Amino acid sequence: MAKESFDCIIIGSGPGGYVAAIRAAQLAMSVAVVEQDKIGGRCLNYACIPAKAVLRSADIVSEIREAGEFGITVGEPKVDFGAVSARREEVIGTLVGGVEMLLKKNKVELITGTATLTGGKSVSVDGRELEATKAIILAAGSVARAIPGASFGGTVIDTAQAWALDALPKKLAVVGSGPSGCELASAYARFGVEVELFEALDRVLPGEDKDISRLVERGFTKQGITVHTSTLIGDIKAEKSSASYSYGEEKGEADWLVIAAGRGADVEGLGIGAAGLDLDEHGLIAVDGHQRTSAEGIYAIGDLVHGPALAHKASEEGIIAADAIAGENPTPLDYIDIPRATFCAPNVASFGLTEEQAKEQGFDVTVGKVPYGAVGAGTLYGDRGGLVKIVGDKKYGELLGAHIVGAKATELIQELVNAKLLEGGYPEVARFIHGHPTMSEAVLEAARAADGWLIHG
Ligand SMILES: Cc1cc2nc3c(=O)[nH]c(=O)nc-3n(C[C@H](O)[C@H](O)[C@H](O)COP(=O)(O)OP(=O)(O)OC[C@H]3O[C@@H](n4cnc5c(N)ncnc54)[C@H](O)[C@@H]3O)c2cc1C
Repeated sequence: MAKESFDCIIIGSGPGGYVAAIRAAQLAMSVAVVEQDKIGGRCLNYACIPAKAVLRSADIVSEIREAGEFGITVGEPKVDFGAVSARREEVIGTLVGGVEMLLKKNKVELITGTATLTGGKSVSVDGRELEATKAIILAAGSVARAIPGASFGGTVIDTAQAWALDALPKKLAVVGSGPSGCELASAYARFGVEVELFEALDRVLPGEDKDISRLVERGFTKQGITVHTSTLIGDIKAEKSSASYSYGEEKGEADWLVIAAGRGADVEGLGIGAAGLDLDEHGLIAVDGHQRTSAEGIYAIGDLVHGPALAHKASEEGIIAADAIAGENPTPLDYIDIPRATFCAPNVASFGLTEEQAKEQGFDVTVGKVPYGAVGAGTLYGDRGGLVKIVGDKKYGELLGAHIVGAKATELIQELVNAKLLEGGYPEVARFIHGHPTMSEAVLEAARAADGWLIHG
């Protein structure tokens, strides 16, 4: 049987794969995307989007509970979790439909099935043989991994299952306080679920700056989450209608136990051996700055490769790969400056180095720290406890990193990322005019604080 030929074949239709497909089509390539499950990948169907849809409902619950402070009297909110889940599915459906439409508009052929590399630039999809004349882009994403001594099954679940529960449990145990674990804990706790959060390291969100972790933990305690840091959980067992576990001398039981403590590249079944691809020390596919693997004509992006496992990083790598295949010379990503966002309450966002990392790396560090309460908007909108922290290098006024916790942190971070990308430093941000009264004035003041002339504080 003759092989079907495309300029570019992409395996996986997540935020890496579908964006790479559109970019490759824009660059005049004929493109096929192979997807074994749902269009939009795990991000749209099981991870980012369902999580944020449910978190949005939790945020509404929080706002209703705080309504009294703003002179509005309402009763204790009632959570109709069936309706929350229905809205989650509706949001996913709308976004998946949008991706389908974009692929169609760009004349990308969608092939359903599991793709396996068969050597050279050939791919087999459940018996159908395809060949790429220019390149193959691997965008197969990642899968959940359990922690040593535990396995998924029954009441021991992964994050995708935790966001898709069909009823509110009485009690949830969450293992791992990275972004996914924190988002789960903070959503379900605000729905009235008893939540225990376990973290092996000494603070929640251990990848974030210490000041941020401290404020998040304070917020979690207020939400009624029981936080166990520096705690190893063991003896995890799925019982008939609950999960049991132990930590230290204690024993625990919850309706569900979620392991949110790591993911691994989804390389099983991809045929990377046949293609002769090298893996790095973390078991990820080794690539260069243009996403080229060790095999001629094969590129890899997103959760399959090094760098933070984030949707926007996967998309950007997809664009870089497509540009490189088209013969352009795209600028490789600087991973440290990719914005990181955690949509728990309080909201968290950051980029670059923490204060500790900047000091360890020998920079002449300046820190500008400003609570939201220092600017009018913090009081006006009811979030005086938020914090903007800028970490700079005094030598050239460089923005080494920024860390925000509080309302809309995930939106506020972008200004600082953009300033850095445009080669601006904190002295420049300190002189940008910001609208009043906005939370972004706290960003302005933090830049002024780093530059030594804080006005409000
Ligand atoms: C709970 C959770 C919440 C998250 N929230 C966020 C967030 O808010 N923001 C953010 O930026 N990131 C978030 N992430 C991370 C984000 O989901 C990933 O970084 C992103 O999905 C990676 O995109 P990708 O294109 O590499 O792969 P994926 O989205 O994993 O898509 C890969 C696709 O490839 C398909 N596939 C795999 N193998 C084959 C094969 N052999 N043949 C055919 N198809 C195949 C899979 O079925 C899948 O659909 C979250 C992750 C989790 C777990």
